[in-house]
Amino acid sequence: MAGKRIVILGGGFGGITAALELRRALAADHQITLVDRRGTFMMGLRKLWVLIGRGTRQEGTRSLDSLKARGIQVHRAAVTAIDARTRTVRTDTASIPFDYLIVALGAEPRTDLIPGFGPPAFNLYDPDDAERVAGRIRTFREGRILVAVLGVPYKCPPAPYEAAMMLDDLFRKLGLRDGVEIHASTPQPMSLPVVGAAGCAQVEGQLAGKGIRFTPNRKVMKVNGNSLVSDGTTIPADLLIGVPPHRPPAVARESGLTMRGEWISVDPATLRASIDGIFAIGDVVEIPLANGMALPKAGVFAEEQAKVVAAQITGEITGRPEPAPYRGHGYCFIEMGSGQASMVQGDFFATPAPAVQVTPPSAEAY
Ligand SMILES: Cc1cc2nc3c(=O)[nH]c(=O)nc-3n(C[C@H](O)[C@H](O)[C@H](O)COP(=O)(O)OP(=O)(O)OC[C@H]3O[C@@H](n4cnc5c(N)ncnc54)[C@H](O)[C@@H]3O)c2cc1C
Repeated sequence: MAGKRIVILGGGFGGITAALELRRALAADHQITLVDRRGTFMMGLRKLWVLIGRGTRQEGTRSLDSLKARGIQVHRAAVTAIDARTRTVRTDTASIPFDYLIVALGAEPRTDLIPGFGPPAFNLYDPDDAERVAGRIRTFREGRILVAVLGVPYKCPPAPYEAAMMLDDLFRKLGLRDGVEIHASTPQPMSLPVVGAAGCAQVEGQLAGKGIRFTPNRKVMKVNGNSLVSDGTTIPADLLIGVPPHRPPAVARESGLTMRGEWISVDPATLRASIDGIFAIGDVVEIPLANGMALPKAGVFAEEQAKVVAAQITGEITGRPEPAPYRGHGYCFIEMGSGQASMVQGDFFATPAPAVQVTPPSAEAY
């Protein structure tokens, strides 16, 4: 069989895993091209460590060019269009034809959707802001810090609570905690709805035990400096660290592969989009769960989905038997400060609702 052209859009958790899996499985005459506008990949959780001054973002960053040594073509450019009809991807510098396409373009934090959100407030999910807020925290001596989810969906749902607990730990160690109020809020009815009431009770119990005030159902209309405006009430703060709602990149929304013009729609078992030979994985897709919620956006899911897709493409090209479907199992850790973490683990495709457990915090999980 003539060599196939497999193009992967996005060099994040999903795209890198797909590229590596395919390269391992396929002979060299099959071409694997990874396209990303950035030249580097950074572990998301490093932003939280940067925030509290534990290490630098460079320590969690690697060059995508290192994939070239493994036989993967890396094309650094912005993807501007996906033309499923002509089976071509257009970037700002080239047109790239494909036999198979994997869309792994992630989700974008959209500060513009929250009026007034910007300096002096900080975006927890922006690496530059994580560095800037670390500088502000170094000089923070007393006052109120709000860690606020400003809209949904957003990736790594536990991250804002981790940030609040890591700040608690930091100010305790500095002997400043008595003068620093820490609040966490979300527009959702509980901290992590997808883990269910028992899991949320664990997380919210941890927040309460550390003296972090948690407010669910706080819908934010706008931000005014460091203050939140919710239902006509202003919640003042000295430092606001927000998580904006996420949306798919414009090129994904305009690809013709979406559900109601937003997230890409796929078969949950195969990650196949509506057009033959096109797959989508990770944060850019929305996978509905049995209880009407959506599969959370997290690197562990993107990575697992990438493996399933790589196995299917390999199977089609080499004639190997049909691989196992994607089953929606996953786990992640919630860092809680003081060298402790909880593990969130479960079957997100279970019916009638995800079967997910949150373990008590332990040094082992950390
Ligand atoms: C603070 C924080 C902590 C986190 N902690 C965890 C954790 O502990 N565990 C976990 O599982 N997940 C965690 N995550 C979430 C995780 O980072 C994401 O869910 C994961 O990166 C999604 O992978 P992806 O491949 O779908 O997209 P991404 O990793 O976001 O990759 C998408 C890529 O597409 C590129 N791209 C987008 N549009 C274009 C375009 N038009 N042209 C070219 N390139 C484009 C981007 O540059 C990017 O490199 C965390 C995230 C944050 C912010």
